[in-house]
Amino acid sequence: MIKKILIANRGEIAVRILRACKDLGIQTVAVHSTADADAMHVRLADESVCVGPPSPRESYLNIPSIISAACISGADAIHPGLGFLSENSTFAYMVEEHGLTFIGPKADHIAMMGDKIMAKKTAARLGLPTVPGSDGAVTNLEKAVKLAEKIGYPVLIKAAGGGGGRGMRVAKTKEEFSAAYEEAKREAAIAFGNDCLYLEKYLANPRHIEFQIIADAFGNVIHLGERDCSIQRRNQKIWEEALSMVLSPEERKDFGQKITKAIEELKYKGVGTLEFLYENEKLYFIEMNTRIQVEHAITEVITGVDVVREQILVAAGNELSLSQSDVQFRGHAIECRINAENPETFVPSAGVVQNYHCPGGPGVRVDSALYDGCKIPPYYDSLIAKLIVQANNREQCLARLRRALREYVIDGIDTLIPLHLKLTEDADVASGNFDIHFLERKFGEAR
Ligand code: ADP
Repeated sequence: MIKKILIANRGEIAVRILRACKDLGIQTVAVHSTADADAMHVRLADESVCVGPPSPRESYLNIPSIISAACISGADAIHPGLGFLSENSTFAYMVEEHGLTFIGPKADHIAMMGDKIMAKKTAARLGLPTVPGSDGAVTNLEKAVKLAEKIGYPVLIKAAGGGGGRGMRVAKTKEEFSAAYEEAKREAAIAFGNDCLYLEKYLANPRHIEFQIIADAFGNVIHLGERDCSIQRRNQKIWEEALSMVLSPEERKDFGQKITKAIEELKYKGVGTLEFLYENEKLYFIEMNTRIQVEHAITEVITGVDVVREQILVAAGNELSLSQSDVQFRGHAIECRINAENPETFVPSAGVVQNYHCPGGPGVRVDSALYDGCKIPPYYDSLIAKLIVQANNREQCLARLRRALREYVIDGIDTLIPLHLKLTEDADVASGNFDIHFLERKFGEAR
C-alpha cells in the first residue's frame, strides 16, 4: 500500500486529494511556489516543499524539482491532480522510472489520448461514434479547403494537442476558412508547441455529455453515469449537472456498456472521462481526459462513490471496490465553478479574499482552498472554489443552489457568483432548454 503521496498541484484540487489521503491514512506532501507559501493546501499537508518561483513553468510544471521533492520527502507516489503535469506522459514515465507510483494511467495511454487525432481514431476502432471530420491531420491549407467542402460548412478547425477550449476556430463559409485555419495554426503552435490541426463538422446545437469511468489493473471497468456540461463560456465549462436530463435510463445503460467495453479492450487503468457531443439523440466522441476532472464531485454526490479514493486505491494495485451493479444514482446534482473573474467580462481577478463566508446546510458541499485573508495570485487558473449541490430532484436542486449562492460571501475579488445566481433564476435553465451555445446566446458576445 502507498504510505506517502506527494500532490503535484495547488488550490482546491490539491485540498480535495489531501482529504482523500487523510481518509485513507496516507501521509501527504504538498509542493508550492513562493507565491503559495501560505496557501491552504500547504497548511493542511503533513509536509511541504517549495519547488520554485511563482511562474508555473518554474514551479508546478518543473519536473526535476517535483520529482526531487518526492525523493527527498520519501513519498512513494505522486498524484498530479488536474491541469499542470496531469496529462504529461513524459512526467508519468519519469515518475515510474524513479521507482514512484504515478496516480494515473500508463504513460502510453496518456500520450494516446493527449493527441486528439489518435484519441478519435482509437475511439472509432473501439466502436464508439465520433464527430464526422477529417481522417487524421490536415497537412496543408489546400487539402484542408477541399476536405472542409466535403465535410460541409460550418467546419471546426481543432488542434491535435489542444485543451482548455483553445486552438479552435469555426469557419462558417469557404471565405472564412483560410483565415480561421491560419489563426488556429498560430494559436496551437504558441499554446501547445504543436501546430498539427484536424477538422470536424461544427455541430449546431449539441449538448456536452461525458461519462466518468474507473478501471483497475485486473480488467474491471465501471462507469458512474454521465454529466451534462453544456453551460460553457469560450468552450470552457462553468456549470455541470449529473445526471443529464436528456439521456433515458436505457440509453445510459446501453451507452455505458459500450464505453466500459471499449475501456476494457484498451486495458486502461485509472479514472477517466470520455467526452461526447449529443445532438439529435446521438452521442459523438470528441476526446478523453486521462485524469480526475474538476466536475468529478457531482458524480460523487449522486453515486456515493469517492472517485479520488478509488483512483488512489486502483493506482496502489487494489481491485475496484464496487461493480457496475453497485452503482446507483440518487437525485440530482449541480456544480457551479466559482472562478475569480468578472462575471460579465470574464477578466481574471487577483487580490485578497475578505469576509469569507461559506454556505452549508443539507445537500451543500464546497470544495475550495479559500480562507479569510487568503491571496488569489495572478499566476494560475482562475477556479477558486466549487459549489456542489444535491437534492432529490432537479427542481429542488436549483432552489437549494440559489439559497447556497445567496449565502456565499467572497469579498475583495470578483467572482462568477452573480452570473450563477442569474442562471438559477433563468427560465431556460429551469426547463433544461440549453446547449453549448446557451451562455453566448443569452448574455452576448463577451461570453
Ligand atoms: P478542449 O480539450 O480544448 O476542452 P474539446 O474537444 O473537449 O476541447 O471541446 C471543448 C468544447 O468545444 C466542447 O465542449 C464543445 O462545447 C465545443 N466543441 C468541440 N467540438 C465541437 C464540434 N465538433 N462542434 C461544436 N462544438 C464543439
